[in-house]
Amino acid sequence: MEFEKWFATEQACRDYLFGLRWPGGFACPRCSGTKAWHTKRGLITCPACGYQTSVTAGTIFQDTHKPLCLWFRAIWLVTSQKTGASALGVQRVLGLGSYETAWTWLHKLRRAMIRPGRERLSGRVEVDDGYWGAEEEGVRGRQLEDKAVIVVAAEENGAGIGRIRLARVPDASARSLEPFVLMAVEPGSVIHTDGWNGYAGVAAKGYAHEISLLRGRKKLAAKLLPRVHKVISLLKRWLVATHQGAVSHEHLDYYLDEFTFRFNRRTSRSRGKLFYRLVQQAAQVEAVPYQQLVKHVRGCTGERHNL
Ligand SMILES: [Zn+2]
Repeated sequence: MEFEKWFATEQACRDYLFGLRWPGGFACPRCSGTKAWHTKRGLITCPACGYQTSVTAGTIFQDTHKPLCLWFRAIWLVTSQKTGASALGVQRVLGLGSYETAWTWLHKLRRAMIRPGRERLSGRVEVDDGYWGAEEEGVRGRQLEDKAVIVVAAEENGAGIGRIRLARVPDASARSLEPFVLMAVEPGSVIHTDGWNGYAGVAAKGYAHEISLLRGRKKLAAKLLPRVHKVISLLKRWLVATHQGAVSHEHLDYYLDEFTFRFNRRTSRSRGKLFYRLVQQAAQVEAVPYQQLVKHVRGCTGERHNL
């Protein structure tokens, strides 16, 4: 009800966005003038030089034909529910005409969940890789192309888990795993892995490397690196429960981003804060047309967040 009260009108949504984009007040990008004329349709004109912009220009809301009110409701659906929202759920609740629109919106929002220049993990960090798309019992019967390799880094926070980073990589070789470690973890940190040789080179990259060797049955893996295994099982449960497992490999990266966003804010008491953070980040990223969103398949290394 509070949400409905805050964002009852298009103007209220625009004002909110305006405050996020220009927290210190409007500054004209051309002449640095601080005065702004607002038109009814959300345009902003600088009276000094005539420069025209809008609150949505350059954000994921740019060129949208739908009201901001509807976008804000979608963001609220995504952030207010602990497990997030599926495209079908968003389409239904918002009464959107097409599933495609709901799907595109969610993907645009997922792109906004990763803050550019975010800091890397530090301290003691467990790192391990797992699969998506392979049934536990049918692993041997499947081709590797059917499985996605996901690498997980999880900070050790006492007995618990601190922040996490996830990425899809082409395989579990050092060539794939090392760039992830470099991207995800601050040098000087302790990298805690099992004995897999894909991690053997991290000591040479400026990390302290702690290896826990697996002895005996595979089951023990969860005990040696309990945090990453907990994260992998939560991720799988979330993909199956919220998205019915209907996640293709080329879009898996975006789901990993959403899962990371949620997980790293799981202790945040206020759902409103999550909403604020997501709208704020959505107001910062550049707009991506639908065609590009569908066609683009991200690489696996540091480039993946840099489109
Ligand atoms: Zn100006």
